[in-house]
Amino acid sequence: SRHSPPAPVCRLAHLVGRALADAQKANEKVIHLAEHDVLTGLINRRRFQKEIERWAGHSARYQREVAVMFVDLDKFKHVNDTYGHAAGDRYLLAAAGVLQRGRRSTDYIARWGGDEFAVLLPEASAEVAAEMANKLLSVFSNTKVSVEGQEMNISASIGIAVMPQHTGNADELLMFADAAMYEAKQCGRGCWRSDTRGDDSAQLGRAAARPSHLLQGLVAATHTPFKSDGSLNLAIVEKQAARLLQDGQVLGNR
Ligand code: GH3
Ligand code: MG
Repeated sequence: SRHSPPAPVCRLAHLVGRALADAQKANEKVIHLAEHDVLTGLINRRRFQKEIERWAGHSARYQREVAVMFVDLDKFKHVNDTYGHAAGDRYLLAAAGVLQRGRRSTDYIARWGGDEFAVLLPEASAEVAAEMANKLLSVFSNTKVSVEGQEMNISASIGIAVMPQHTGNADELLMFADAAMYEAKQCGRGCWRSDTRGDDSAQLGRAAARPSHLLQGLVAATHTPFKSDGSLNLAIVEKQAARLLQDGQVLGNR
């Protein structure tokens, strides 16, 4: 019509529009690369940590639960060493696939690094997280990864920690889930462990946060070594520890 701009202007506008769209796409790609793992396509540690911070804030503000699971493949070096890195990558991808297919729509699954994955379960209690861990272990053990004509199952160890039950702090939540995962490794692999401090041991207070097994054993053996304010009476525990060590009850029969 008589009112439309001249053809060169239309053409220029079209080119500018296309350049902007291309720049936008490139920008999105950079952002995606910065927050995702190239091999599995899962979110990476950096993005996961952002989500943890966000959900920890949500948990503190609205008194909601949020669980974290650390999943580390068992004896994965053996797969790499025996069948090669490419086979190892296929095994990793199969594990990532299981995690992704098992997730609820609100969960976040990250490749934490190497053969370790982290799962964030918003609004999940310790029971829900344990249920999820059981389901994952069962699917892992029924998943067949074909490596050099051989079929292998996946085995992994899982650690669970829950906010606010185990801690109110995002860093500690990660630390406790990681420590629980190491306990699962120690207990023979292919299983899950939860942070061992229940609501009762919250009484131990900040100073004694996450007591070692030895300390937990000592606390149990010393019968209510608590002060009236609920904090741990370390003097009693130490005295008892010395006695137990002398009796050989802790170090075995010597
Ligand atoms: P554990 O049961 O104690 O976890 O034993 P593990 O052999 O799985 O030991 P660990 O978890 O420490 O080893 C992880 C290995 O994963 C070490 C590294 O060679 C391998 N790895 C890390 N990233 C990749 C990857 O992207 N591809 C492959 N194929 N291997 C990887
Ligand atoms: Mg491993």
